[in-house]
Amino acid sequence: LVSRKKKPEDTIVDIKGDRIGDGNPHFVMGPCAVESYEQVSQVAEAVKKQGIKLLRGGAFKPRTSPYDFQGLGLEGLKILKEAADEHDLAVVSEIVNPADIEKAVEYLDVIQIGARNMQNFELLKAAGSVNKPVLLKRGLSATISEFINAAEYIISRGNENIILCERGIRTYEKATRNTLDISAVPILKQETHLPVLVDVTHSTGRRDLLLPTAKAALAVGADGVMAEVHPDPAVALSDSAQQMDIPTFENFMKELKK
Ligand code: PEP
Ligand code: MN
Repeated sequence: LVSRKKKPEDTIVDIKGDRIGDGNPHFVMGPCAVESYEQVSQVAEAVKKQGIKLLRGGAFKPRTSPYDFQGLGLEGLKILKEAADEHDLAVVSEIVNPADIEKAVEYLDVIQIGARNMQNFELLKAAGSVNKPVLLKRGLSATISEFINAAEYIISRGNENIILCERGIRTYEKATRNTLDISAVPILKQETHLPVLVDVTHSTGRRDLLLPTAKAALAVGADGVMAEVHPDPAVALSDSAQQMDIPTFENFMKELKK
């Protein structure tokens, strides 16, 4: 059902008027994790100032180590929604447990399924059964075919509002956190009718590479870019090496618009 052969025209996912897949670049920006109302609110204000509609922030954080910050859970989602509502933004946040979807849909506009859960088939089926757009990230070591099949799990349950997100894959290369598979973008655009984003933060893991990889993403036809923004990345509870502070984010958007 996600195949271009089945449906030749592009799917446009409309999130509160932000039409992902309409041919214009769209942005999903916000902190790695929701830490406090004050933190999210500062970022929301900066996001709004750039004319961006989609505010991200992790409330349920799938961390590699069980001793790292696990997120504020439902409380984090409430904070995110409060800050988003104040600036008329839409909320994008990851859900890791199918049982949380029912409660979470009250607070979010897009269900994110993270790389670690791309093949959590029960979660995919649950996300496919609700009437909310889904942002599906490519798995840590997933092939493009496995990625497309994961999207198929969602659409086959009736939910057609799917946004694919390339976020880098594991290779032998250690210069970046993951290897951004830039060619995945035109392949996914050719093989499916779904919009495709590139997450430059988690693919590179390097602040100095965010702008060049975002330019590359848009140049090869991505429908938008995801990146992380934090008021003070040095004290961030997760991903402190690659989040942008607000002035860096403003410059990032200025350069990208050029
Ligand atoms: C995220 O976007 O918050 C995240 C955890 O990314 P990924 O699932 O791509 O690692
Ligand atoms: Mn992160």
